[in-house]
Amino acid sequence: MTDKRSLSHSFLSAVQKVVGAENLKASQGELIAHSRDFWLLPQAWFVKGKIPYSPSAVVYPSSTEEVVKVVKLSAKHHVPIVPYGGGSGVVGGAVPITGGLVLDMKKMNRILEIHNENLLARVQAGVNGWRYEEALNRLGFTGGHIPQSLPSSTVGGWVACRAAGQFSTKYGKIEDLVVSIEAVLPNGKIVKSKTTPRSSTGPRLEQLFLGSEGVLGIITETTLRIFPYPEKRILLSFAFKDLQEPLDAVRKIMRRGFRPAVIRLYDEVEVGLYFRHIKGFEGKTLLLFVLEGDTNLTDLEKEIVSEECERGIFKGEKAVHHWLENRFDVHLVSEMIKGGAIVDTIELATTWDKATDLYRKTIEGLRALSDTVYASGHFSHFYQEGACLYLSFAGFPTSIEDYYWKAWKTVMETTLKLGGSISHHHGVGLVRAKWIRKELGEYFELLKKIKKVIDPLSILNPGKLGWGE
Ligand SMILES: Cc1cc2nc3c(=O)[nH]c(=O)nc-3n(C[C@H](O)[C@H](O)[C@H](O)COP(=O)(O)OP(=O)(O)OC[C@H]3O[C@@H](n4cnc5c(N)ncnc54)[C@H](O)[C@@H]3O)c2cc1C
Repeated sequence: MTDKRSLSHSFLSAVQKVVGAENLKASQGELIAHSRDFWLLPQAWFVKGKIPYSPSAVVYPSSTEEVVKVVKLSAKHHVPIVPYGGGSGVVGGAVPITGGLVLDMKKMNRILEIHNENLLARVQAGVNGWRYEEALNRLGFTGGHIPQSLPSSTVGGWVACRAAGQFSTKYGKIEDLVVSIEAVLPNGKIVKSKTTPRSSTGPRLEQLFLGSEGVLGIITETTLRIFPYPEKRILLSFAFKDLQEPLDAVRKIMRRGFRPAVIRLYDEVEVGLYFRHIKGFEGKTLLLFVLEGDTNLTDLEKEIVSEECERGIFKGEKAVHHWLENRFDVHLVSEMIKGGAIVDTIELATTWDKATDLYRKTIEGLRALSDTVYASGHFSHFYQEGACLYLSFAGFPTSIEDYYWKAWKTVMETTLKLGGSISHHHGVGLVRAKWIRKELGEYFELLKKIKKVIDPLSILNPGKLGWGE
């Protein structure tokens, strides 16, 4: 591991002057904690005592002005900076592969303004997701963005990864919620967009930061849409004989203009893994709904959902309660990794016409690998034009890396062949670097040029978003 000594004394003392001694840290604990995010491979290496990457120091800025000063110093001394939110990313985006500084945003944790009339919240980027939602709930609102990582992720991380919450079918992904962004560029300039519902004044360049994964700027503040806390909630579940019938039902619900907050369609394997104690779903697929919002609209939505799901068997609320109660629990995954297993997830996006094909072919590809113990999938996050397919797989391989990359390769290549997107909400990081050129085509070349203009010294999160190998 590198340590603080590999950065020059003059650089470190200048950074210390900006943030204060208590906010520049380089203890072994700090460095280890910031040596990885939730990407599976560094976790598996860590279990074996290997820490291949480490920052040289960790900085906790408290304001945009401090970020500006630290970024300017880093540019002057050519020190790489890795922005770090909650470290819950699962694709290696926050792993400091070239050492340097990790800029941990958690002290920029203020909710600056909640505007009732405009239904907007202005927040600093390091605000913790759970704290944000709780603060809104106390005042009679919801942010509508509830990722499974809510307790361990930050608002800035959501924006930087184009995250999706579990209730996204109604409220939208984070890119649908962001109204304006303040960011610090690698030359220390602050860019800040207007808070206005729409505009026609050229491309809205703040959108560059959506999905930018820390390579174009440090997001310091954002204004997000919020919603009145739902008046009513209705829970529904249905058992189906396959995936096609419920997919058709959801497509028709969306087509008719209804937006249930949560829609999740589990294949038979996931029903067996997560819902086996609930009677009536054996060997079936499960479609569950959370409908919420204004009472009249929610009641009407229930009628429409029931009408379109007539080919399924109505199963009431039990499965939905079970999902609601357990939706943040991921302890099994950590236990399996400690036991030597590889357990990972891959989320993809597809239009309706390719949904079942994408499911079938990616699952077949994963099951064809000799080390695979199980491969399963569910659909969630629905749109008028399609959905997100979320795959899970596990294996007990002799070579972790070998199995891991084979599994990813089969899914990525199948998705590219079928014209789907290789990521719906986790991002590129290090994991998808190999396939990003094929995903984006000429847009990737354009993106590279934009990066060169914005960050000619390449100090911001080097090697991410497809720039590395
Ligand atoms: C158990 C679990 C469940 C998850 N569930 C979901 C889910 O439901 N939906 C979903 O979308 N994702 C999910 N994720 C993935 C992850 O939580 C999201 O990608 C989240 O948005 C990352 O936020 P973070 O603050 O932890 O970012 P980090 O992991 O710290 O960073 C992620 C990337 O963003 C960059 N970044 C972070 N903050 C900033 C900033 N202020 N400015 C510029 N760049 C920045 C980092 O450099 C890095 O490239 C899950 C992860 C886990 C471990």
